[in-house]
Amino acid sequence: MSAANQPKGWCPGALRPMLSGDGYLVRLRISGGVVSAVAARAIADCVQRYCNGLLDLSARANLQLRGVQEASLPALVEALQVHGLIDESAEAEAVRNVLASPLAGLAPDAAFDIRPHVRALEQRLVSDDALHGLPSKFGFIVDDGGDLSLASIGADIRFVALHDQSAPRFLVSLACCDEAAVIEAVELPDVAARLATAFINEARQCETPPRRMAALIASRGAAVIWRAAGLAPSPQIPRATSPPQPLGHHPIGASGFLGLGLAFGRVSAQDLAWLADMAQAHGAGVMRLTPWRTILLPGVDAKAAQHILSQASDAFITDSSDARLAVIACPGAPACASAESPTQGDALALSLLARALSPAGVTLHVSGCAKGCARPQASAVTLVARAGLYDLITQGRASDTPVQQGLDLTACRAALRAMAATEGARL
Ligand code: SF4
Repeated sequence: MSAANQPKGWCPGALRPMLSGDGYLVRLRISGGVVSAVAARAIADCVQRYCNGLLDLSARANLQLRGVQEASLPALVEALQVHGLIDESAEAEAVRNVLASPLAGLAPDAAFDIRPHVRALEQRLVSDDALHGLPSKFGFIVDDGGDLSLASIGADIRFVALHDQSAPRFLVSLACCDEAAVIEAVELPDVAARLATAFINEARQCETPPRRMAALIASRGAAVIWRAAGLAPSPQIPRATSPPQPLGHHPIGASGFLGLGLAFGRVSAQDLAWLADMAQAHGAGVMRLTPWRTILLPGVDAKAAQHILSQASDAFITDSSDARLAVIACPGAPACASAESPTQGDALALSLLARALSPAGVTLHVSGCAKGCARPQASAVTLVARAGLYDLITQGRASDTPVQQGLDLTACRAALRAMAATEGARL
């Protein structure tokens, strides 16, 4: 399929890859975000043999392989299949859009172990053909209620495990809707299917069928969805929205986990293979992928963490004051066919100024085009490439109206410097 023939809003997978600027983009939806060290080494090997040598960890904790030539696709898929990383069909991989708490089953502060419920949801989505009509970006979140909250990540249908209950229960909510219903944990796959079916049926009745729950609610209200799914919601308590940044060592009992950040979500095959070796030699032999551009190694004690950190290359962010954490950038040119600038190099060049805007959090989003793949939510400053220059948006998304246009890198620096001097405290 040529880039021009690809449908709008289509999400690539491994069985339905997307043609991009430097070849095909293959996205791996890792179940539960858990990758064994063996599988991680196999992925790294594939990336070296068939791709451009780099992997991107997406904002939904998926792994993206780029630069695959058409002739290499069958061999790549076959190699990944051996490690259980490929779904049975393109429809199954498209619908299995479930993001789960990265420390599921390990977090001492979680309400309960959500892993069986995540597997049951994935199984239901894959096996129920009626749900294959969901739009490709339609996504589910299952949050274990622990400190590594997924509250800052958007979802069409969200389940949050409830503490202090006599039996395991979830709070289920829809997109941006400020209502939620309480369900028994075992009901999760069935409730997800009922809500998703209600979405499909209601969306079909719209002149231009919405592709996300928020858009459907905006046009028809949430009550019709709840009613069709047989649920009676009540007002929801507002959720915290700051994304966690689990870098460094975090003790759990006698052991713990180590969090290593990836600059702009990117890691080389070589560094991923090294991390797999570390996970096997000093941890539980697995890595957990997060939506915060961080990989967690569970089962690592404080001494082993020190050993790993002492060897971690510059590819890994180990310090929460690292300026690269202030910036999010999409792969940009030349990787993406839609990109109008080399976003990652420009993001690196602007990272110190981005950090000067605020001592914590993401302040700058550098996007190769107005699609804004790397960060759907608003940022203090967003730079959107256009014909090799940037348009600047404040407190908005990549698709919003810019306040300045046609800035080169020097002008971007000047704009950020001026904002840091006058507005930094407000951002
Ligand atoms: S935001 Fe645009 S340039 Fe960047 S990865 Fe997405 S489509 Fe490509």
